[in-house]
Amino acid sequence: MRMNPTILFSLCLSTLLAQDTGTAHKAAATALLNSNNSGAARLACPATIGPVSTANSPAGPGRAGGPPAGGGTAKGGGRGPAAAPPKESWYAEGGQVFDNLYMLTTKMNSAWAVKTSQGIILIDTLFGYAAQDAIVDGLKKVGLDPADIKYIIVSHAHGDHDGAVKFLQDTYKPRIIMGPKDWELSAREADPPRHDIEASDGQKVTLGDTTVTIYITPGHTAGTLSVLVPVKDRGQPHLAMEWGGTALSGGTSKEMLESYIANAKRLKDISDGAGADVIIGNHTEYNDALNRLERTKARKAGEPHPWIVGKGEVQTYLTVVEECAKAWLAIGDGRP
Ligand SMILES: [Zn+2]
Repeated sequence: MRMNPTILFSLCLSTLLAQDTGTAHKAAATALLNSNNSGAARLACPATIGPVSTANSPAGPGRAGGPPAGGGTAKGGGRGPAAAPPKESWYAEGGQVFDNLYMLTTKMNSAWAVKTSQGIILIDTLFGYAAQDAIVDGLKKVGLDPADIKYIIVSHAHGDHDGAVKFLQDTYKPRIIMGPKDWELSAREADPPRHDIEASDGQKVTLGDTTVTIYITPGHTAGTLSVLVPVKDRGQPHLAMEWGGTALSGGTSKEMLESYIANAKRLKDISDGAGADVIIGNHTEYNDALNRLERTKARKAGEPHPWIVGKGEVQTYLTVVEECAKAWLAIGDGRP
């Protein structure tokens, strides 16, 4: 088919303009990068600004399994012994981060144990193969009892975060909270957890003296949950923010990108109003978390806390992922 030169010209022009807009948004994100957010940008921003091919995109919102492309871990979510990689390839030592918050981790992913006066609220569960070493033994190493897990909040139903939900549900009988759409996603897994609590936006999960607030922030998946967690440093109250789903790709739909952008903006306002001044995440690379944990362990009296970054940095973090999503949206003509 011969194309009218005028139409061809305007098509090329609109592609170039879209790429300019994409480049501008990525540049806006890049200008804000620092150790509090650069890993998040690596997963959220397009690597290069050019025409998007959705055909061979490695990661999309419908994936039930493994980590974002480039994560370097076994495909298929890693559930079950057959998929378990050698321990030295993934094991990392967790530890205490705040008076009431503990990082249970692998090299790639982190889960969080919130200690309350009535038990533990666990945020995410890592891959199934890490459940014994990182969650069960990880809790014992910091003096906590896995039998005290009363709630598990699942940021989203991908294997690197929900892989151990079924095991922990069967073993310790906690209540499981997931976004409604991600319950649907997890129901398609090979050995899914039993359906339990469907999260609602603004839901407050109170256990003893502690209340965690959940926000439904679709974008990475349709039921991604973000949370605000009250923490204490040597008795001083602070507030931690976790953006529950980060990675985007050429396969992320326009609708999901628009939702991601709107919810990053919304969580920015909520975090600002609530005074969030700490960033936590569920992939260690987002904010250099393994290194940050080591610095926390080595911290001496009077030294600043490595995780207390201030309200401005929480805002910046969410602006970075928002600009990354805007870059994807700009270059995504023809995406589903
Ligand atoms: Zn994910």
